[in-house]
Amino acid sequence: MKETQDSLKHFCGIVGLHSRSPINIPHKLFYTLFSLQHRGQESAGITYRKEDKLVTYKDLGKVSDVLTRYLTKDIHSEIGIGHVRYSTFGGNKVENAQPITISCNKGEISLAHNGNISNASEIRKALTDNGAIFQSTSDSEIVLHLIAKSKEKDFLQALTTILNQLEGAFCFTIIFNDMLIAVRDPNGFRPLYIGEQDGITLTASETCAFDSIGITNYRQVEAGEMVIIDKSGQRSIRFSEDKKKHQCIFELIYFARPDSYIFNHSVYLARKKMGAMLAKADGKLGDIVMAVPESGNSAAIGYAQEANLPFEFGLTRNFYVGRSFILPTTEKREMAVRTKLNPVREIVKGKKVILIDDSLVRGTTSKILVKILREAGAAEIHLRLSAPELHFPCYYGIDIPTKEELISNSKSPDEIAKFIGADSVKFIPIDDLRQCIDDPDDFCYACFNGDHPYQHK
Ligand code: SF4
Repeated sequence: MKETQDSLKHFCGIVGLHSRSPINIPHKLFYTLFSLQHRGQESAGITYRKEDKLVTYKDLGKVSDVLTRYLTKDIHSEIGIGHVRYSTFGGNKVENAQPITISCNKGEISLAHNGNISNASEIRKALTDNGAIFQSTSDSEIVLHLIAKSKEKDFLQALTTILNQLEGAFCFTIIFNDMLIAVRDPNGFRPLYIGEQDGITLTASETCAFDSIGITNYRQVEAGEMVIIDKSGQRSIRFSEDKKKHQCIFELIYFARPDSYIFNHSVYLARKKMGAMLAKADGKLGDIVMAVPESGNSAAIGYAQEANLPFEFGLTRNFYVGRSFILPTTEKREMAVRTKLNPVREIVKGKKVILIDDSLVRGTTSKILVKILREAGAAEIHLRLSAPELHFPCYYGIDIPTKEELISNSKSPDEIAKFIGADSVKFIPIDDLRQCIDDPDDFCYACFNGDHPYQHK
């Protein structure tokens, strides 16, 4: 069975914690990571400092599988980092789980990474040619090799030099000695926030992690910024010259949790605006608005409010269904979708349905969904997508299928409607999407328009 999915996948989520006095750091790491579980479900891990030594525990599985052991322990520490991972670069092996902890000529270092270093292959080749031995296939390991090889005596100076050699998306949380270091790449592809309350500093990919431990005071780590936290407090370094921002618009469309605030936007409100924009383009069309849950919910509410139509939970999602791989036969695929999403007949029957989803990848799931809704008696089905048509790969931390597999590379919206059996299919145009955010020039749209900020072979 080929393990691919008819949806896009995140790369990772990271956290870092520092406390002025010893607290149960692993316990807090559990809850903050648990709130970022949607950013990666294949492995989880933490590192904390105990008696001047770094302790790392990581494994394949979700936070609740791997880290529950820390809920009943009372481990006092002042510093820790954590990671949840979806294995895009390097495969799903325990060696690729993070944080990665090493002991080198600079001392003990532990690192957690969110993103994808797009020039990792070239750096890795150069390091391997010089005799470096890698333990994992993860792109994050190259950073630790570069630190170990650096001639700079000062760790922060070495790190600054190395960060300027990297291209693409990288947010890091790092422990070195008694320091917690948070880094966001100069293009700001992935989100990273930092906040302090009652002597506890948290840095995390999304603000929902702050809510999980009651920290209400936070700010965005700026693109190209490194924040160092130790007993004496916080200090910030600009490690790079100012570069054009390329914040991932897909974080707002789909990846981040709706209750998060990232790139200085409320995710929920941004999605509602996208839905409203789709409604404006449609005029009066259907009887009810429904979402493909959960990712389509906020946009569907925005559509319904703008169109003055009822929003209905016409599809019930079974939350106990895990990953739905692309199964080899139509019959098995259909069974998987039917198990995951079931229509409420009384809501759908005889109705002209506006169905809102975030994006269309291969179209296989939508095709089955349309069939199921027709069987439930839907009179018309109009599929609306809050992402533009996907045409290109992503090199910055999102797993997008090959160009050939993307349905928008072989079919127009009308042809897609015919293929999936819908009455119509429409995608939000890039220009309309740009109107849904405050600072549209600071975002990346490369998977829609091919305008990648770096050259890729
Ligand atoms: S290419 Fe697409 S998925 Fe990748 S960073 Fe840019 S907007 Fe996000």
